[in-house]
Amino acid sequence: MRNNYDVIVIGAGAAGMMAAITAANRKYSVLVIEQKKQEGSKILVTGKGRCNITNDSDVLDILNNVMTNPTFLYSALYAFPPSRIIEYFNSIGVKTVTERGRRVFPESSNAIDVRNALVYQMQKAKVDVLKLNKVTEVVKGNDEIYYVTVKDANGVTDSFGCVNLVFATGGMTYQSTGSDGSGYVLAKNLGHSVTELKGALTGLLTKERWVNETMGLTLKNVSLTVLKDDKAIYKEQGELLFTHFGISGPIVLTASRYLLDTDYKNAKAVIDLKPALDEQTLYKRITLDMEKNASKKYANSLDALLPKSLIPVIVKLSGISPDKMSNQISKDEKKSLVRLLKNLTLTIRSGMEMDDAIVTKGGIPVNEINPSTMESRISQHLFFAGEIIDCDALTGGYNLTIAFSTGFLAGDSVYL
Ligand SMILES: Cc1cc2nc3c(=O)[nH]c(=O)nc-3n(C[C@H](O)[C@H](O)[C@H](O)COP(=O)(O)OP(=O)(O)OC[C@H]3O[C@@H](n4cnc5c(N)ncnc54)[C@H](O)[C@@H]3O)c2cc1C
Repeated sequence: MRNNYDVIVIGAGAAGMMAAITAANRKYSVLVIEQKKQEGSKILVTGKGRCNITNDSDVLDILNNVMTNPTFLYSALYAFPPSRIIEYFNSIGVKTVTERGRRVFPESSNAIDVRNALVYQMQKAKVDVLKLNKVTEVVKGNDEIYYVTVKDANGVTDSFGCVNLVFATGGMTYQSTGSDGSGYVLAKNLGHSVTELKGALTGLLTKERWVNETMGLTLKNVSLTVLKDDKAIYKEQGELLFTHFGISGPIVLTASRYLLDTDYKNAKAVIDLKPALDEQTLYKRITLDMEKNASKKYANSLDALLPKSLIPVIVKLSGISPDKMSNQISKDEKKSLVRLLKNLTLTIRSGMEMDDAIVTKGGIPVNEINPSTMESRISQHLFFAGEIIDCDALTGGYNLTIAFSTGFLAGDSVYL
């Protein structure tokens, strides 16, 4: 390892590795500095360990799923669109499959394969990688060289110089993967600002305590409507999970993004447990179930209709005596049970802590970065890539797409 490089990349995540490979393939000498023991720790936790690499859509569809500053990403996404991301991974030995919602995963369903393929490409392109070293200071000398100070786990420091510096330090969530926000501080010291940081795409905390009784229950196909001040701001059908504190799962993560910039006052989640049945059909279905179970108590007649752990909750919320015989349930009681199953309502208290969020909203303001190159508008030869930039997207492979595309563009734009 030498002490001077054409390019230093801080952070061996998706964006940093892509930037490093791209720059090294252009024959620049590249050093990647990573504070964790291994590269791509966050990649390993993506897509529940399966890594939703990208979304096989065109650029405009991707932009529709970017919640903050989509137009900034136009050039990066055209430079390295999902079609090229897929082609690239296929060409480096990661076969992909496209699933529901055009989500692209490695065929092996193993995020490690994505990480390892990128690590191997860095080796092949002769990228030097310094692991277990944290960048603690960056200054730009009068000679226009960036001087990067690192500290290892034993507190031993070292220093490296480079012409081009790429910040790919990620956001602030899942800090155990290394994205601890130190990149924002380093960037500030070089004259940049940082917009307000919030954890986006989280579970939702509810006032109702009964969720605890159903903790761990996943409902595969329910419909969720989020109301803010009685107005529907989000509606989606899909998978929802009850947690210790509230609700989570894919549709909830997305729903949370629509509440992130609100005060959560008068926010409600309305779950339709039986979206495939309209009220009339559900009423008939319940009537049939009650007839079939005529000799049983009401509380013991819902097995065919609901998952086991939800039954005591629904029985309690319905207000119908659990001991009532099924054939004695009145028409009005059945009607109110139908309403409950179609409108199971929870009061939202808030989203979750930053560290539990999938992605960070906020970061380096996009007006401080040239969108055609990812170069800083404040300091020449300084580049940004990935989640550190003030852009965030919904779930579906869009955030990794941002990381790969901006990483590629930064690596393709460094110059001497
Ligand atoms: C649980 C979870 C699941 C997700 N699933 C998906 C998914 O399936 N699809 C999708 O598109 N997105 C997903 N995301 C979001 C996606 O993982 C991130 O947006 C993306 O990985 C960001 O990449 P990055 O390279 O910008 O940052 P990171 O991957 O966070 O990499 C930053 C790197 O920089 C290093 N670093 C930081 N500061 C320093 C420093 N001072 N010195 C040295 N090194 C430093 C860190 O250790 C880290 O390795 C998921 C996120 C989470 C938390």
